[in-house]
Amino acid sequence: MRRPKSKDFKKQQRISEETEIELLKSWIQTQQVDSGSNPMSLPPLPKNAPIGRVDENTFSRYAGVANFNQLPLSKKTKDGLKDGKFVSMTDIQRASLPHALCGRDILGAAKTGSGKTLAFIIPVLEKLYRERWGPEDGVGSIIISPTRELAGQLFDVLKSVGKHHNFSAGLLIGGRKDVDMEKERVNELNILICTPGRLLQHMDETPNFDCSQMQVLVLDEADRILDSGFKRELNAIISQLPKRRQTLLFSATQTKSVQDLARLSLKDPEYLSVHEESVSATPTLLKQIVMVVPLDQKLDMVWSFIKTHLQSKILVFLSSCKQVKFVYEAFKKLHPGIPLKCLHGRMKQERRMAIYSEFCEKRSVLFCTDVAARGLDFNKAVDWVVQVDCPENVASYIHRVGRTARYKSGGKSVLFLLPSEIQMLEKFKAAKVPVHFNKPRKELLQPVSALLASLLAKYPDLQPRAQRAFITYLRSIHLQKDKEIFDVTKLPIDEYSASLGLPMTPKIRFLNQKIKSKAVSKEQISAEPESPKKENALMVTKKKLATDDSDDEEEENDLLLAADTLNEDDEAKASPNL
Ligand code: ADP
Ligand code: MG
Repeated sequence: MRRPKSKDFKKQQRISEETEIELLKSWIQTQQVDSGSNPMSLPPLPKNAPIGRVDENTFSRYAGVANFNQLPLSKKTKDGLKDGKFVSMTDIQRASLPHALCGRDILGAAKTGSGKTLAFIIPVLEKLYRERWGPEDGVGSIIISPTRELAGQLFDVLKSVGKHHNFSAGLLIGGRKDVDMEKERVNELNILICTPGRLLQHMDETPNFDCSQMQVLVLDEADRILDSGFKRELNAIISQLPKRRQTLLFSATQTKSVQDLARLSLKDPEYLSVHEESVSATPTLLKQIVMVVPLDQKLDMVWSFIKTHLQSKILVFLSSCKQVKFVYEAFKKLHPGIPLKCLHGRMKQERRMAIYSEFCEKRSVLFCTDVAARGLDFNKAVDWVVQVDCPENVASYIHRVGRTARYKSGGKSVLFLLPSEIQMLEKFKAAKVPVHFNKPRKELLQPVSALLASLLAKYPDLQPRAQRAFITYLRSIHLQKDKEIFDVTKLPIDEYSASLGLPMTPKIRFLNQKIKSKAVSKEQISAEPESPKKENALMVTKKKLATDDSDDEEEENDLLLAADTLNEDDEAKASPNL
């Protein structure tokens, strides 16, 4: 008796879904918002106005509405949103969803923490639902994230908002050992959330991997995915995707570079930049401090900062994995009175995910590289973002501080600038990043260098870590593109080495060459900029070093590593002079 009943039920359900889809299609079609317009400029619907079908041929307006339930969305998505307690839309959601639901390509820019994720997850679910996408239809949407942690987080949002739908979704990220199992299943998945390296691995290696019917492509943190670090992967991916598709690009720092976008062959994209008129490019509730700190006092400052904020949740950015490892290991041995953790691209993936979840839950200090700079929404608010090393540019700064003050909560950040990096302040001003300039309070400073020196004497394995930290920092400055701000020859190298507790300044080959070559170019009175060829060579070395380094925690065959760690690890372990 049960079977026929459930068949009936299924039939009934199919008929009501078909009716719903017909209604949604007509609603979307007849109330289309004008191309090129920003729905935010329209007033919200009057209270108690009818929603959906008003009479036989009329539907309610959905452009400019304030709440999710006023949009032409399926009941399944609306239920998912209701379960997540999402009622009113954020600005970027109000601006982009009406266009995205009509199937248009979107280039969306809005501050960090302003709800961009739902602005692309909802259209993906809705498009596949309206197309009645099923298991046999294969890959219907691909969502690309620059890092594994962010991909994991997007997957969680998709699972939660899409939980009433029947789509299958997969998280395809590097560093996981179950790639063979993935290969067997990947063709059955409807929505793929992936990092570029792993997606490409499947495109290359998985038999019959088919995305020829894919409907919607999403790039989260689009400017990062379009930049040089992922160029090769992205070009290869795009060449295998169907041209007829919807493409959604989102970031807090958006690219409009025609060259970048041409690669994606967007069709009349809607540029929706909801905070362009805003007085600041960063969240209003974010308090941003900048302090000038000499290189040899940076560790004293971070140590003092941690010791005076023991009740806070703090994210500390450093510029390379080796620095993260050294500062984390050394400070841990000094027991500051708050749990310490570290996160960087050289850790095993399970540990990366575990650390990320622990940091979400508990008060602690997380030392990290830029692998944590983009997109992550630590669900219990981060109180402070501390940038010990200057980011490579303003965009990178905006993403790092954007890990706090998310949605409607407040947050604070502090950046240490070297005296030689002070020009960064002008760049902040030009980019509408409002920072307060504070003088470090000397009376609060708790020197740590002497403690580090005795630690290094006591624990022999710490000394090479300190040396690597020293060298990778200098190398990271040496490799920076913005030569106006970053000048390795201006750094107090011996003092910096001593501040890490090192008894002697390690020899640095590349630096000696640099100083020598400077002398030569002065003699020749020529100030030639570095040729692009040379810069490319540097990038290659950087990438090679990142992959070659066989550290204890590093994983082999990790396709993602090179891209993942680019800009964040520039190990110079190979230097024979160490
Ligand atoms: P972004 O990608 O713009 O940095 P996220 O999409 O990560 O921001 O969202 C930031 C936070 O805001 C998340 O915790 C998310 O759950 C929450 N959020 C997003 N949209 C809404 C909304 N409409 N109502 C309430 N909270 C929201
Ligand atoms: Mg985001």
